[in-house]
Amino acid sequence: MQLIIENLSKTYSNGVQALKNVSLTLNQGMFGLLGPNGAGKSTLMRTIATLQEPDEGTIHFNSIDVLKQKDEIRKILGYLPQEFGVYPKISAETLLDHLATLKGISNAKERKELIKALLNKTNLFDSRRKNLGGYSGGMKQRFGIAQALLNNPHLIIVDEPTAGLDPAERNRFLNLLSEIGENSVVILSTHIVDDVKELCTDMAIINNGEVLMRGNPMEAIFSLEGRIWSKRIGKPQMADYKKNFKVVSEKMISGKPEIHIYSETPPGEDFIPAMVDLEDVYFSNIFLKN
Ligand code: ADP
Repeated sequence: MQLIIENLSKTYSNGVQALKNVSLTLNQGMFGLLGPNGAGKSTLMRTIATLQEPDEGTIHFNSIDVLKQKDEIRKILGYLPQEFGVYPKISAETLLDHLATLKGISNAKERKELIKALLNKTNLFDSRRKNLGGYSGGMKQRFGIAQALLNNPHLIIVDEPTAGLDPAERNRFLNLLSEIGENSVVILSTHIVDDVKELCTDMAIINNGEVLMRGNPMEAIFSLEGRIWSKRIGKPQMADYKKNFKVVSEKMISGKPEIHIYSETPPGEDFIPAMVDLEDVYFSNIFLKN
């Protein structure tokens, strides 16, 4: 199972170049597409989901030409968009039944079985008769996954699914995603580094419409080993450090900034080798590659 994206470009009518010659090959399993807001993630997700056209480039999923055979890809696609609206006055069970009918599952018994299985999988069975308007953010996102799985998809796209979820809901949602990742290509688009770190065996970092890094998260961390240095500094010194070093990230620890810098040789000045994290990979790509 493989999704091959080649030379994809998109410029919106206002002149914003949202995708610049993006090429990526994704295999079975969970793929993390990581980038800040405005990077081009949703544009890429919507293009793969056949909701908008690129200016140039091709997308193939196995033998399907995604941009030309839209009906074919839609049959095996599950998509959870960034803004997932629900009808507030309908129960989860009723809406899933309706959506399943729309997706062509005409046998009522088959629909009932499928919906029961999906409600169990997403841990919503006990709330199946409750109106969706009364669902929490996490429940709505899990409902979104249940609807995305109705047609037993082989290609699943989830766009920024954990934004706004509390930590417990986020964990539950990520666990659910990791379960469904086993038999399909799942693309998780996010600006949250930890989402990718916890779930994905493969990833890309994208910014300003360009792929800056592509690979295995653990290998990317390993490749930075020995080049990230940390130091606790005073707040007033921050500007000086930013001028003199390649500052990758800054974090407040008990009210005092700890900075991570990139340096191929020991930088001196009491910097100590840092434990490299995926955040260092992310920020060194975002901040140092321009
Ligand atoms: P992300 O999902 O990473 O936040 P988007 O793909 O939504 O990024 O946006 C990429 C860039 O394209 C941003 O600069 C955004 O403002 C712009 N953009 C997105 N959609 C449109 C649109 N429909 N018209 C014009 N510009 C857009």
